[in-house]
Order: sequence, then C-alpha cells, then structure tokens
Amino acid sequence: VRHSPIATVNPYNNQLVREFPPMSREAVDNAAQNAQHAFQSWRRVGVDERATLVGRAARLLRERGEELAQLVTLEMGKLIGHSRAEMDLSARILQYCADEGPGLLADEPLELDGGSAAVVNDPLGVIVGAQPWNFPVYQVVRFAGPNLVLGNTILLKHASNTPQTALAMERLFTDAGIPQGVYTNLLITGSEVDRVVELDVVRGASLTGSERGGASVGASAGRNMKKSVLELGGSDPFIVLDGDNLDHTVDAAMAGRMHNMGQSCVSAKRMIVMSSAFDRFVTEFAQRMRALQPGDPADEATTLAPLSSERAAEKLSDQVLDALDKGAIAVVGGGRVDRPGAFVQPTVLVGVTPMMRAFHEELFGPVAVVYQVHSDDEAVEVANDSPYGLGGAVFGSDPARARSVARRIDSGMVWINHPTSSEPNLPFGGIKLSGYGRELSSIGFKEFANRKLVVTM
Ligand code: NAP
Repeated sequence: VRHSPIATVNPYNNQLVREFPPMSREAVDNAAQNAQHAFQSWRRVGVDERATLVGRAARLLRERGEELAQLVTLEMGKLIGHSRAEMDLSARILQYCADEGPGLLADEPLELDGGSAAVVNDPLGVIVGAQPWNFPVYQVVRFAGPNLVLGNTILLKHASNTPQTALAMERLFTDAGIPQGVYTNLLITGSEVDRVVELDVVRGASLTGSERGGASVGASAGRNMKKSVLELGGSDPFIVLDGDNLDHTVDAAMAGRMHNMGQSCVSAKRMIVMSSAFDRFVTEFAQRMRALQPGDPADEATTLAPLSSERAAEKLSDQVLDALDKGAIAVVGGGRVDRPGAFVQPTVLVGVTPMMRAFHEELFGPVAVVYQVHSDDEAVEVANDSPYGLGGAVFGSDPARARSVARRIDSGMVWINHPTSSEPNLPFGGIKLSGYGRELSSIGFKEFANRKLVVTM
C-alpha cells in the first residue's frame, strides 16, 4: 500500500490506520519563528512557574495514561503492560522535572578573591528534538521536561510511525497550560530535520535514534556551531560471572533482553557468560524464550508482541539469517513467526563470530547472542569489542568482583545485578557510536543551558 510516510500502521496486522500529510516547509519555518517569538516571553516566566506547568503535565499524563498506553500499543505494537509501565515512568520524569528542576538550575556560587562569582543557568532558545518510536512518550518527556523548566522552547520531530502519539503529547502540554509556540510538534520526515537544525533561530538539537540520523544531525549542528546531544544505539553486554542465583540472573536476562520486545537502546543484547555457568544459563534462558506466546499486544495474555514495523522485522530476520548462514546455531527460534504482522521468533544464538553481522550490529528485537568466556579479563574484552558503548550489566554474587568488572566496561552506564534501566534522577547516555551527552538527572538538565559566568567585583 502506498501512503504518506507519516502514518499509523498497526504492526499486529500491518494495516494502515491513519495517515498525515507532511507539513510544508513554509509551515515549518513559521513554527520555528513562533518558537523563537515564544522564547522571548517564556524565558522571562520564572523557573517556578515553568516547573508548575510541567507538574500539571505530569498530572495530565497520569490521567490520560491508559488512553496514551493504548495509542502507543496501536502505533508501535508494544505489549499493553509495557506501555502502561512507560506511562508511569514518564509521569515520574515530568514530576521530577517539576519538583527538582528549580533547585537543579539554581545559581552556582564560586569562590573569587576580592569579589563574588556565580554560574547562572540561562536557557539557549529554540531546541529541535528528533525522537524515536520505541518509547514514544518516555523519549518525549525526557527531552521536553528539562528543557521546558529551563526555559527553552521546543520543536519536536517525532518518528514517522508514531504521529498520533506525537500529537497527543503536544495536546497534553498545551492542555497543561504551556503557552502557544513553546512546544510545537512538527509532522515532517527525517530527511527534513537537518534543514530545521540549520535555521538561524534554532540554538541546539537533540536526537535519539540511529547512528545514521545522529551523524546527520550532529554534522548539521556542528557546521552551524550549535550544541547537540545524541542518544544512539547500543549493543549492551550482560555479563554473568557465576552460576549463583541463576534463576534471578535468567529472570533479569529475560527482562533485559525482552522488555519492549528487545527494542530498547539499553536492551541486554550480548550475554557474556562464564564457562562454569554457560550450559545451564543457555538451557534455562532458551526455555524461557521458547515459552513466549505471540498474539495481540493489546491483549494482556500476550507475551510476544510484533516488532514496530514489517521493515524492522525484516531487518532483524536478515541479521539472524546471515549468522545462521555463516555457522551460528539457533538454540531456539531463528525465523519469522508464521502469522500476519511483524512477528519474529524469540531467538538465542550461540557460536557467533566476528564474520557475522550479529557480532557487530545492534539486534533490535527478540534475538540474544550468548558468548562463552573463561575469565573476567576475557569477559571485559568481549564486552568492549563493540562499536557501541551505551549501557551494560554485570551479574555475580561477589560484589567487589562485579564492581571491578563493571569499572572496566567502556560505556556510559553499568548496572550490577540488575538490567540497565532508567530513572528520572540517573544520567542516561553513552560513548562511542552510542553518542554523546546525557539526558535526565542534574547532568541532563543542563545540556541545553547557557552556563553563564557572572562576576561582581
Ligand atoms: P532513526 O531512524 O534514527 O529515527 C529516530 C528519529 O530520527 C525519528 O524521528 C526519525 O524520523 C529521525 N531521523 C531519521 N533519519 C534522520 C536523519 N537523517 N536526520 C535527522 N533525523 C532523522 O532511529 P530508529 O532506528 O527508528 O530508532 C531506533 C534506534 O534508536 C535504535 O538504534 C535505538 O538503540 C536507538 N535508541 C537510543 C536511545 C538512547 O537513549 N541512546 C533510546 C532509544 C532508542 P523518521 O521516523 O521520519 O525517519
């Protein structure tokens, strides 16, 4: 079916639900001018008043949580329980921004002989945010919450396959009382984003998504001396140091690999398991993967949801086939589920080598690779043998040993005895091809601040 690139297509049955014409360039330019105009008054509204409005948005998100969860499940196929969990976390993030933002942005006094000095956190202006479909509400609030409290105005470019969620979020902020022009949703395709970043009025750009999108936005921002933050893909290691508490470890591996059907930047994509625990881990993990039941993601009994789109399912299947062709073994799965919709079998691969795409590329779906290692040094070496460096997890019953391994992982985040996760007050972001900058926490709050020095002598 040919339809607008901006459309809701239900991945459960691949049916077109609704399409939207992309905005014209003129409409986008007007929106950018309005955002610049709105910035002049928004920056003068006190930080407490801005935080109060974001607090109202948090309340509205709680009130509309179920409606939004259903919409997210319709547009990108997330299990309804996972959609509800996303709404809870998103409301907590907005609440955190409202409660903690003014304190985090307070003036920071500095010592100075013969006078006084402070760093004050001023807003920069209009910031463009390009967001992905995988957590379509969470991604929006972790970008919008801090920037709105700080006093920036926002042009939000959401993924082309989640336009209704994008519009619902714009409505939510408007209904919360955020003034006209402060938060504007742009219905445009990814190929139009660079032009927006380059507009004179835009002062910064944030992209969460693929390396391709990130490289493009980073280059446009750099050429124009604009600040950028890039939150890109990952291929996080999940290191198992011993077979103690194996049930807990396998539970965590399931949660880490399968939350959101594996379509999370911080999914546990590479299981790196000590030889003493390898056979038991693979057997139990494969058993749990095999038990997942495909069905309608809106049905609470379903445990295997479709991927976000047919294209995503095809890409992942190609990566699996490439590994199988070159000698990897699928302990479970290995193909598509024989039914309509964007379903891929839960798959556990062993015997993956550097010859295979699965070794280097991000596997964005229900496919785990398990590697066997024989020492902590080898575990660290395999973990760091990736172009990515987003998150990671280390499981083991000896805390000192687990911490020492965690410290040697090249990534932006490592969790011990828990899959990598996100909380409002913890910084989120990576290194290497996973991007730069952080979101959330006191660090993320100030990425688009002018941290201005004011000295009085
Ligand atoms: P994507 O194609 O890069 O899409 C992300 C956003 O960028 C969408 O709004 C997209 O618009 C836009 N975009 C696409 N091409 C662009 C370009 N050349 N210039 C500017 N913007 C462009 O990413 P995806 O593959 O759908 O998303 C999944 C990826 O996001 C995975 O790699 C995942 O790991 C990563 N991710 C990272 C984090 C993190 O915090 N590090 C969090 C979640 C997801 P269109 O939809 O119109 O193409």
